[in-house]
Amino acid sequence: MQIAIDGPAGAGKSSVAREVARRLAFKCLDTGAMYRAVTLQALKKGIDLSNGKLLVELIRSCKLEVEYNDQEGTLIYLDGENVTEEIRSPLVNQNVSVVAKSSELRRELVLLQRELAEKSNGIVMEGRDIGTNVLVNADYKFFLTASPAERTRRRWLEMSAKGLDVSYEELYKEIALRDRIDQEREEAPLKIAPEALVIDTTPYTLEEVVEKVLSVIRKGKQKECGEEKVK
Ligand code: C5P
Repeated sequence: MQIAIDGPAGAGKSSVAREVARRLAFKCLDTGAMYRAVTLQALKKGIDLSNGKLLVELIRSCKLEVEYNDQEGTLIYLDGENVTEEIRSPLVNQNVSVVAKSSELRRELVLLQRELAEKSNGIVMEGRDIGTNVLVNADYKFFLTASPAERTRRRWLEMSAKGLDVSYEELYKEIALRDRIDQEREEAPLKIAPEALVIDTTPYTLEEVVEKVLSVIRKGKQKECGEEKVK
């Protein structure tokens, strides 16, 4: 079974995807982590972040490993080094959407994402283009969103908990810019798949959103739930 969860930054996709996967004993893949890993490597090597050809060469020349476990979620290794934490740095945040614009790179990573889905018996995959591009035949598609203020607040809390000193205003602007680049790019932009169920997570706790997602899955085929928005 394949479950696709898309949405903008801070909508709660990662936490919801991990918890849904845990309860269903499925694998979970955070595809944003893959774009982040390429960004980190490109920054380290001083490569032009908008040059798709170079980005593909870069990713082919290093060893990118993606692992998953229940406790820590998606783990990323670059040439054997665990960079799971490093890919969440403010510098990567500021540059990842530029890297993710590259069609060449996207095609390369999408192949890997589909391969990982095929190898698993059940997967929850989250990102920006999962329902519209990576897993178009997914059994269930969800689009999570939340108000920009709430999304910024969540990211700010996350970063502060890690000891990162970030200004709320700067973060708000950075998320808005990232959303705009993700929505306006040519290749697989961030948009709602026609059959996806949209959940505005602004007023809900993580547990409530997880329950809404699981209740749709328990009911069976998504199509039978109609196009209704989950309230
Ligand atoms: O989900 P996360 O915020 O970690 O994603 C980081 C960035 O990676 C996004 O802002 C977007 O530019 C890119 N991304 C993407 N397609 C995906 C997942 C992430 O373009 N499927």
